[in-house]
Amino acid sequence: MKSPTNNNKLTRRHFIKKSLFGTGILINTGKYFQIKGKKLVSKEIDMKYRILGKSGLKVSEIGLGRLETQGENVLSYAFDRGINYIDMPAEYIKGEEGRMLKLKNRRDKVIIASKIITTHNSTKQETMKLIENVLKRIQTDYIDIIMIYNVGTIIRKHGVTKHIERLKNEDVIEAVNQAKKDGKVRAFGISTHGGDFKDYINYAIDSGHFDMIMLKYNFMAFPEEKELLKKAKQNNVGSVAIKVVGGAYDQKIKGYEKSRTPEFRRAAIKWVLSNPNITNLVIRMPTFEEVDNCIRALDEKYGYNDRILLEKYASSVKPYYCRWCSTCTQACPYDVSIPDIQRYLMYFTNFEYKEEAVEKYADLLPEQKADCCFNCNAPCENKCLNNIPIKEILTEAHEILSIKTL
Ligand code: SF4
Ligand code: SF4
Repeated sequence: MKSPTNNNKLTRRHFIKKSLFGTGILINTGKYFQIKGKKLVSKEIDMKYRILGKSGLKVSEIGLGRLETQGENVLSYAFDRGINYIDMPAEYIKGEEGRMLKLKNRRDKVIIASKIITTHNSTKQETMKLIENVLKRIQTDYIDIIMIYNVGTIIRKHGVTKHIERLKNEDVIEAVNQAKKDGKVRAFGISTHGGDFKDYINYAIDSGHFDMIMLKYNFMAFPEEKELLKKAKQNNVGSVAIKVVGGAYDQKIKGYEKSRTPEFRRAAIKWVLSNPNITNLVIRMPTFEEVDNCIRALDEKYGYNDRILLEKYASSVKPYYCRWCSTCTQACPYDVSIPDIQRYLMYFTNFEYKEEAVEKYADLLPEQKADCCFNCNAPCENKCLNNIPIKEILTEAHEILSIKTL
């Protein structure tokens, strides 16, 4: 099996010659390169890499998330600039085969991470089939990282209702180990969003079966998350951060533009990468400018201005930013999925994932939905350290996410 190579010696001029001038997309104006009249950063910045735990994979500090939002040329551009990590859950690949073909010429330079939805009672044969399906959909002979998808969240349509038991399923572990021996998988991990993430991550680290973890980690992280990352590092388990921009709420922040400014995104990236215990992060980079902006963050130190920017954002979203800690859930007499519903609402309102948000809400068990919040005196709210108006948010979420068609 070929190992990934480091692309960081490519110069800006080189990548343009190699991949984009030919398309007529870029114009060389002398000082800057332009796309449709927009200036790109002209400074050359080397990509930085870290090792993903015991897998030994050398991954770029920033990776591509939500591939389906990136055009082919943006994807090529990102690879040419040294980004080599790509998060590609097979379930999100819809009619993208043409774009995936572009990977074939550089397959050995790209580290693809994907996920399988196994349950507590998946058999070895079923798990092998899931892995084969991932390979088929991505059109590759091997996958670099395979993760057990979204541990901690019920995915009813796939029979996923138990969590830590998913990680203990020996058949799944055997199947992935077999796939490793067969050269079809290089590393094994878990992805998690929240909920009782501490339990899952602690188990994943302690069990010794997993090479990496993917977890929500941003400037509004709980101290426990930092501790978990430290423990992961000590045990040579790699860690990939997701949700690094803290929900991308679009309200105005005093003294700044909207939260999706390039400065804000760079500050959020710098904060995550300033922790030496994290391996890398994935973030959406749907445009050339976003690729440039994210890479630029690698060349800057996290500093005072970043801290002020992030603190302002954090304090402005605090009244409604759920950290998915699940502290409140035990106070709910109805078993409502409080953090998951808030996450789905965020997908709907802050990102472009409206269909996915509605689908995910529809997939919750009846007792997990927020119907019962309307006539409840909300004991959950007393447990939330952030004083989030849970009832108000969940009833709103129920109304938005219960729509049948979009
Ligand atoms: S408002 Fe009531 S039903 Fe809704 S989540 Fe809170 S405790 Fe549960
Ligand atoms: S509502 Fe509050 S207590 Fe509940 S999961 Fe979110 S942040 Fe945690």
